Amino acid sequence: MTTPRIDFDLKPSAQPLSGTEREAVLADPGFGRHFTDHMVTIKWTEGRGWHDAQLQPYAPLPIDPANMTLHYAQTIFEGLKAYAQPDGSVATFRPDANARRFQNSARRLAMPELPVETFIEACDVLVRQDRAWVPTQGEQSLYLRPFMFATEVGLGVRPAGEYLFIVIASPAGAYFPRGVKPVSVWLSEEYVRAAPGGTGEAKTGGNYAASLAAQAQAAEQGCDQVVWLDATERRWIEEMGGMNLYFVYGTGEHARIVTPELTGTLLPGITRDSLLSIAADMGHEVSEGRISTEDWREGNADGSISEVFACGTAAVITPVGEAKSARGSWTVGDGQPGPVTMKLREALLALQTGHAPDPHGWLHRIV
Ligand SMILES: *Cc1c(COP(=O)(O)O)cnc(C)c1O
Repeated sequence: MTTPRIDFDLKPSAQPLSGTEREAVLADPGFGRHFTDHMVTIKWTEGRGWHDAQLQPYAPLPIDPANMTLHYAQTIFEGLKAYAQPDGSVATFRPDANARRFQNSARRLAMPELPVETFIEACDVLVRQDRAWVPTQGEQSLYLRPFMFATEVGLGVRPAGEYLFIVIASPAGAYFPRGVKPVSVWLSEEYVRAAPGGTGEAKTGGNYAASLAAQAQAAEQGCDQVVWLDATERRWIEEMGGMNLYFVYGTGEHARIVTPELTGTLLPGITRDSLLSIAADMGHEVSEGRISTEDWREGNADGSISEVFACGTAAVITPVGEAKSARGSWTVGDGQPGPVTMKLREALLALQTGHAPDPHGWLHRIV
């Protein structure tokens, strides 16, 4: 079945930020602090489906106190980046993968599924309109945040009959403007992020709300981030904050790279998936498996684990330098960013910014 194409009604802002003001923002964008001049919105209503797709000025939304999302949290999101390319064009990275994951998240939260091509077109329409907001310096990018939430008003508990899909965009600076710095992590044995049968695989706000107390505990322990363990045994490593994890066994060209397998409680990261291919392309043995907290501690003690890193769209790749749990703490490798970590980081960024070939056809050119 082909989905009827949705036409976007273009209503550009009469008062976009001036070039001078925009340039001032782009000089130091930070992350998620500034938003472009526009947003894309698409409505969904029971019986009518997706309709009323618009590009319009970025603006606050009116909200009814009985809006169902505020009470029962039917809300999902995505995160992807548009990168300026050396030939002056702009490309997003694997937007089809984000679109499919968005459909999976929607299904889990009993929300309607947006067609993959409409998701991609909504991102394209926004980037085309706000292309002047795509930063061109080094590791900078335009972060796109598609999301959807219930707009129906009422307190009855059931899937809502009305939703709003929105895409907003925010210029993002280099994650490590002063050089890549390893993070320290706290292995959370008290709180869990996701349990079997729960929403761990869905990109939904509730998972983040539930993570904040654990993140605060990590900070109390002097750590930057929390590492999640499985809910049943509190033994198997799942992921770190909002990023997936990789373990490097051995060193050099023959280093073996392992990431926790997708058990249904991990968020299936697109960066994680891309690195499975990129590391294999570089000749590394790559696998998905189970790594326990003891495996990690012992592997560090006997030197078989040389590096650990986290990966996700926002920071691309972040080395893990220190691990701490109720049972002790250890330094990962020499505590510095490892060579395999940095090689993979450079390879992925080079591909995303058009400075390396794209053998898998992951870049989606927009303008
Ligand atoms: C988004 C997210 C990731 C990383 O996914 P990417 O597609 O690589 O950005 C990992 N873990 C969690 C919990 C996430 O929400």
